[in-house]
Amino acid sequence: MTFATLGLIEPLLRALETLGYQTPTPVQAQAIPAVLAGRDLMAAAQTGTGKTAGFALPLLQLLTMEGPKVAANSARALILCPTRELAEQVHASVAEYAQHLPLTTYAVYGGVSINPQMMKLRKGVDILVATPGRLIDLFRQNALKLNQLQTLVLDEADRMLDLGFSEELANIYRMLPKKRQTLLFSATFSDDIRLLAGQMLNDPLSIEVSPRNVAANTVKQWVVPVDKKRKAELFVHLMRKGRWKQVLVFAKTRNGVDALVDKLQGLGINADGIHGDKPQATRQRALDRFKASEVQILVATDVAARGLDIEDLPLVVNFDLPIVAEDYIHRIGRTGRAGNTGEAISLVCADEVNMLSAIEMLTRQTLTRKMEPDFEPEHRVPDTDASGQVVKKPKKPKKPKTSGSGGKRNLGKWVDSGDVAPAEPSIKPVRKVPVFNTGPRKKK
Ligand code: AMP
Repeated sequence: MTFATLGLIEPLLRALETLGYQTPTPVQAQAIPAVLAGRDLMAAAQTGTGKTAGFALPLLQLLTMEGPKVAANSARALILCPTRELAEQVHASVAEYAQHLPLTTYAVYGGVSINPQMMKLRKGVDILVATPGRLIDLFRQNALKLNQLQTLVLDEADRMLDLGFSEELANIYRMLPKKRQTLLFSATFSDDIRLLAGQMLNDPLSIEVSPRNVAANTVKQWVVPVDKKRKAELFVHLMRKGRWKQVLVFAKTRNGVDALVDKLQGLGINADGIHGDKPQATRQRALDRFKASEVQILVATDVAARGLDIEDLPLVVNFDLPIVAEDYIHRIGRTGRAGNTGEAISLVCADEVNMLSAIEMLTRQTLTRKMEPDFEPEHRVPDTDASGQVVKKPKKPKKPKTSGSGGKRNLGKWVDSGDVAPAEPSIKPVRKVPVFNTGPRKKK
């Protein structure tokens, strides 16, 4: 199958040729004809599967072939994204695909001045990429009208709900014309997402192209058990031992990001951090420098790193495990993209055993544990497996019988859980998403 056989027009084919896209990915093969046919779409696909081109290419084609010229302060298509970085990234892709088309594109998001955005919208734009909060601000200030809107795309809809955007989405829904095409992309289909889809979509075609644990096939994953207080030391040790060149590191909190960056910089390591407290320009600069290999270690919270496409990223390190198991898949999906292989290493302390268990249950695999000599934890991480069982009360390590053991503590027998065969990856999305925190997250 080629892009031409999917019915794409010549200016788009030319752009794809320049980008080196030869064959449509599975999500593109299914989404492109359906969108061209005018269908609403409910698509289970995550970043890394080529979903952006899956919706953007047919959207660009429809906007070129159909509909009136864009009016002042209007948009003909709206792509909603959960984060500023993702909005930037999606916009960059859309602009590349549109390079030979007579269409205008623009991205708006918070954290930067609204005035230039209002100016830019005066003439209207064919495709507007936006985060929900800023879109509503622009609408309320009459800088944007949506009565000309032909198509709405909800990108990473699950993440938008996770980030507490459900109220904003309900508001946006009320601002939209009733007759429109709607495309919803989400990595998971929770009850809330189905509810949203029920309100927003009209007789949608469901497509489900990749298993949710798709990253697991191209990403080699393992866990290093360690005491919490020694994580930073272990990270530096592993980095030097493995001669890591470019690593994306995830920490749980903003403070955690700052503390690790300070520690690394203090050791003369070229590191930077991104999190929600940093101004947008600083975040973007750190990311750009990381992508250009000018920064070796980028430490990020989940909010800041969601959906980022970093070419050929070889390694992701979970300095802390994510609180929401789902985020693990997104994090490790930053590597092993577009057919490359990657590695994902998680530094796990005893406190995180329930998170580890939830991740294993979600991904249906038991993660291999590799003990790092001299970093064996004093607080043992109980055994876990893909069934979600945690052996809560491990046997206490026996005291050494004699003092002749060299003074080293016997830390008990460690099971290399990688000996347990991983379950076959499922092609169906996992319905039950184990989370520890089911409430909406605090908005940025
Ligand atoms: P996405 O899932 O949209 O974030 O895309 C993931 C990566 O795959 C991006 O770097 C895209 O440029 C790339 N990509 C998307 N579709 C194709 C394709 N058909 N052939 C080659 N690369 C692609």
